Amino acid sequence: MTRFAANSPHARDIASLVHPATNLRRHLETGPSIVQRGEGIHVYDDSGRALIEGAAGLWCASLGFGSERLARVAYETMRNLGYYHLYRHASNEPSIDLAEKLLSIAPVPMARVLLQCSGSEANDTAVKLVWYYWNAVGRPEKRKLISRKQAYHGSGCASVSLTGKPEFHAALGLPLPGFLHTEFPHYYRNRLDGETEAQFSGRMAEALEALILAEGPETIGAFWAEPVMGGGGAVLPPEGYFEKIQAVLRKYDILFVADEVICGFGRTGNMWGCQTFGLEPDMITCAKALSAAMQPISAVLVNERIWQGMLAQSDRLGPFAHGYTYAGHPVAAAVALETLRIYEEIGLVDHVRAVEPVFLEALGALRSHPLVGDFRGCGLIGGMEIVSDKETRAMFPPELDVPGRIDANARRHGLILRFVGNRIAFSPPLVITEAQILELARRLAAALDDTARELGRL
Ligand code: PMP
Repeated sequence: MTRFAANSPHARDIASLVHPATNLRRHLETGPSIVQRGEGIHVYDDSGRALIEGAAGLWCASLGFGSERLARVAYETMRNLGYYHLYRHASNEPSIDLAEKLLSIAPVPMARVLLQCSGSEANDTAVKLVWYYWNAVGRPEKRKLISRKQAYHGSGCASVSLTGKPEFHAALGLPLPGFLHTEFPHYYRNRLDGETEAQFSGRMAEALEALILAEGPETIGAFWAEPVMGGGGAVLPPEGYFEKIQAVLRKYDILFVADEVICGFGRTGNMWGCQTFGLEPDMITCAKALSAAMQPISAVLVNERIWQGMLAQSDRLGPFAHGYTYAGHPVAAAVALETLRIYEEIGLVDHVRAVEPVFLEALGALRSHPLVGDFRGCGLIGGMEIVSDKETRAMFPPELDVPGRIDANARRHGLILRFVGNRIAFSPPLVITEAQILELARRLAAALDDTARELGRL
């Protein structure tokens, strides 16, 4: 029985919807927290209260939660051509314009673009392209894929197999065969006593090489990584990490796919996370901020090597047999294109760089808080470690539900946080101002203080 009035939106939600990433039985009791509307970096709950969205929804609402200009583009495009696809040589101008634009801003030379509707679809597509490519060049045995433990790459059957989180696999018989996971490069949590960051990165690269050798390098098709691990907890790569990892990949002729679904379009202080951390991938997947999250759209960028393989394979086997009904949707493509125009007009990447020091200082100052073990970030993404003991880095026992307490207290102070285990992952809308960052940090500090008091730590 629910405590909500019959026919209230809460009761109707409970009786009709299944929510992702939600404890289904608890939801029957607690009901939903309904978001009524959004404006700028705020969303408004059902009592009309404004909350700062510290995670931009799911790391995606780069321009905040409403846009007259994007609404107009969607409206006008829908009136002109409300739907078309890219099958069998069909095309539409918004998709052409968007593909061209993406190629022109890519962080490394890229040859072609495949449009999709979500990050999961982009990664699923890229998995198939790895197999398609190695088949094309006569090495079909190179089909195993390596990603990292704790990575999140999506919820499709292939992208969830790339995902390195056991809770996404339990009870489903996943990951699929041939999806392997190497070490989680989280220096704060996983370093050995006395190990420097550079030594830690070396150990991560050695672990990757050991896995490749154990499996047989001739069977490994590609390695997958985000520049900054988002769903892993906003974990920055340790010093020298990608340099060492990429050396291993080159040694064994393993393709590199960069998942820019979160990092792409300004999040790390450059247009691409690849630029911030020196990644030189063969393929890039991107989504989320591509359309400021206002339309479901994603893209896979492939380099000349992959493209030539695709051409050869299509010569041999006939049409490339892969595609989604909504891939190349003119409305989504037009909104994405306009989003990229807005980014240029408002100088979004420069803005992120300009506010980055305030973001890092304001949240970094909370390292002295009794509950905070560490904070690291870049651009407008960062992770804060919640610990019960700063010295040993020990975590609170799960039964205390410290993340849940901080979350509830933050909401009372008007702040929505995103937790990944015992880490708070920050990724506010990219248009956040300095004053708003300071306000976010103030609300967070108040929530941490309340929680510390509840736990007798303050
Ligand atoms: N890759 C990364 C890095 C992501 O963070 C996500 C979603 N959070 C995805 C892929 C999947 O994207 P989507 O939810 O749009 O399918």
